[in-house]
Amino acid sequence: MVEQRRFFSGLKCRECGRPYPGKALYVCEYCFGPLEVEYDYALIGDSLSREKIEARRKSMWRYRELLPVAGDISVGADVGFTPLVRAKRLAAEWGVREVWLKNDSVNFPTLSFKDRVVSVAVNRARELGFKVISCASTGNLANSVAAQSASAGMQSFVFIPHDLEDGKILCSSIYGTKVVGIRGTYDQVNRLCAEIAGRYGWGFVNINLRPYYAEGSKSMGFEIAEQLGWRIPDHVVVPMAGGSLITKVDKAFDEFAKLGLVPHKTAKIHGAQAQNCAPIVNAFRAGSDVVRPIAEPNTIVKSLAIGNPADAHYALQTISGSGGSGVAASDAETIAGIELLARTEGVFAETAGGVVVAAAIKLLASGQVKPDESLVLCITGNGLKTKEALHGRHELKTTIKPSLAEFESLIETESPTKEWK
Ligand SMILES: *Cc1c(COP(=O)(O)O)cnc(C)c1O
Ligand SMILES: [Zn+2]
Repeated sequence: MVEQRRFFSGLKCRECGRPYPGKALYVCEYCFGPLEVEYDYALIGDSLSREKIEARRKSMWRYRELLPVAGDISVGADVGFTPLVRAKRLAAEWGVREVWLKNDSVNFPTLSFKDRVVSVAVNRARELGFKVISCASTGNLANSVAAQSASAGMQSFVFIPHDLEDGKILCSSIYGTKVVGIRGTYDQVNRLCAEIAGRYGWGFVNINLRPYYAEGSKSMGFEIAEQLGWRIPDHVVVPMAGGSLITKVDKAFDEFAKLGLVPHKTAKIHGAQAQNCAPIVNAFRAGSDVVRPIAEPNTIVKSLAIGNPADAHYALQTISGSGGSGVAASDAETIAGIELLARTEGVFAETAGGVVVAAAIKLLASGQVKPDESLVLCITGNGLKTKEALHGRHELKTTIKPSLAEFESLIETESPTKEWK
């Protein structure tokens, strides 16, 4: 067992550096900067080693010194440590040496990377004494809040835009949470939730618990480095909604380097968004740090449809600072990306995964990723939850009577080259 020592000391303003206690606080009273968890890296450095991590259970909690929960892990102990798959057939299709899929489409329990952030937030919420867990969500976050609150025996409320995919709604509702659909955009949902959080004293994982929630995303970066054999890849492509995950993958690599767990080597970190809701990519392309919000996102990529991303500014810093770039994908390119990934690697990703595959194609075409470099694609959600995006493209086309003769005539017409025989 891990010693129950406090490896994090509290919170700190990212802008002015003022310290805050480790409570449900998220914005600096003085400069309105976001608060971030502060760790005692000297203490962590004394405690953590590759061997120690490798001996632990295969979940995101094998890095628990670097995650902001003080006591025992009571919810989501099995979240994370998803497969890092060597994508040989996709690499061959693209003519590159080394492509990997960090496959969070099979994360436990709700098949998206959001299980990581929610596991941290719910454990911390319990420690802080919250009774009700809540969130503003584009779908996956609501699913994970609903499931992990249920398993923790806690009450939950989730707030979503009313027009999400059926799968995203079902995968919240099934757990007995109260699902509230707001007739508006995600940004309107989020503003309403900030008001509710102030009024009701609930633990909103991505609002008043955001500093803890956001740290959960680091585990994706830790796992990539460990699963590559304690190595940082040359390139990572990360989908961006609020822009938090991309900054935390970067932070994870930095922390591992700082602790001597990986050789210091910088990865280029690329951010991907849907063309019709790409405020961060647009700012990157314009060479500007002013992010112009998208008022009415209109894309099939609903999980990434945040018009006014909370962490846009820091996401831009991560992209520029690492030498990466911002890439947008159209809806058609997204669908092609989903189908290519499924056909070559047997991985069925949601729309955000299609955006990442499409972005990788563009990075290769423009020469930003070279054929002899290593490339990791973050596949953050599962295709079964966004079936609408593929509507009409994969219906059952072939039916026959249960007769061998019918099958033989079918194979004659469908496969006259006799390749099946
Ligand atoms: C939430 C989400 C993201 C990105 O999350 P941010 O940290 O808000 O940028 C990426 N992919 C999927 C599938 C998501 O649900
Ligand atoms: Zn401040």
